[in-house]
Amino acid sequence: MSGAERIEGHCLCGAVKIAIESPKHEIEICQCDMCRRWAGSFYSAQTGDSADVSGDEAISTYRSSEWAERAFCSQCGSNLWYRFLPTGNRSFSAGLFDAAAAYGVEKEIFVDERAEWCRIEGNHPRQTGEEVIAEAKAAGFSFD
Ligand SMILES: [Zn+2]
Ligand SMILES: [Zn+2]
Repeated sequence: MSGAERIEGHCLCGAVKIAIESPKHEIEICQCDMCRRWAGSFYSAQTGDSADVSGDEAISTYRSSEWAERAFCSQCGSNLWYRFLPTGNRSFSAGLFDAAAAYGVEKEIFVDERAEWCRIEGNHPRQTGEEVIAEAKAAGFSFD
């Protein structure tokens, strides 16, 4: 019965439940001003090999830019995920998963847009928005 590791999470009201297979034990933090407006501080991204989402009727999505979609629970307002449309890749709000509270920080991006009161301790890699966009362009994405 021992398969891949699986963590389970849910939104504040419980209408949306999400399970992730083989979760990464490191969280990516985005400090961009859009994530700050969305999340109130910064966005903490939990990823894994695959995800099962239930509670579709409570899920609303918002197209926040040409290349991204953000989802939230329409009943309680909890942030659910960020999807990068060019690849379809999705990350989930780490705060939904109790297990993720024990994970470390993989990296912090858009640090140049960070609020003074959003400093995260540790020696993880930090990238500015310019560095993140340069990396994405090098990988073939266009943001124009
Ligand atoms: Zn909810
Ligand atoms: Zn962001």
